[in-house]
Amino acid sequence: MATPSHRKPLAELVAELLATDGPLPIVAAGDPVLRQGIQMYDGQLDAVLLSRFVSALRLTMHAAPGVGLAAPQVGVPLRIAVIEDPAPVPEEVRVARGRVPQPFRVLVNPSYEPVGTARAAFFEGCLSVPGWQAVVARPAEVRVRGEDEHGHPFDDLFTGWPARIVQHETDHLDGTLYLDRADPRSLSSNQAMTERWTQPTPETAARELGFELPG
Ligand code: ZN
Repeated sequence: MATPSHRKPLAELVAELLATDGPLPIVAAGDPVLRQGIQMYDGQLDAVLLSRFVSALRLTMHAAPGVGLAAPQVGVPLRIAVIEDPAPVPEEVRVARGRVPQPFRVLVNPSYEPVGTARAAFFEGCLSVPGWQAVVARPAEVRVRGEDEHGHPFDDLFTGWPARIVQHETDHLDGTLYLDRADPRSLSSNQAMTERWTQPTPETAARELGFELPG
């Protein structure tokens, strides 16, 4: 027996979203679409609609601006995300955070697993939690498996800042927000970030706010 669905077919939902040009509205924390019911992509959008949707995700990510965006963040419960980071940061930040450029990529049905035991802890933020940042300790290296937008499988290692981005976006597809993994004592407003925590690492913030960093 079929389960009654109160949801619109996803293709219809996406077609409606794409009816207006320009960046898509971003869903904020508190909307259940960020937390549950996110489906594996399995052809719910045909090739043309998927391609248009990916372009809209990219446009929205650029406009925000952000370095990653997951479909649930525009209200679409599908396991699709985009990442891209030109990494316009000073040399000392690049070295400390491993923030190297990440070319544009589409992640369809991604999953990740840690490689080794090293962890890296840095402030991160989320377009669905505007105005705030917090420190998250994450595996420093991950193995990511999934498909690209053409259905071709990939199996790649990510390190440095790209590893953080890909974990953050894949977590969205599991209904997880970075705050679920963050140290609550590190929570800082964007204003505090600008005024106080511009150092390449969160060591000063850890000392002054009273939270622990790994190893
Ligand atoms: Zn996010």
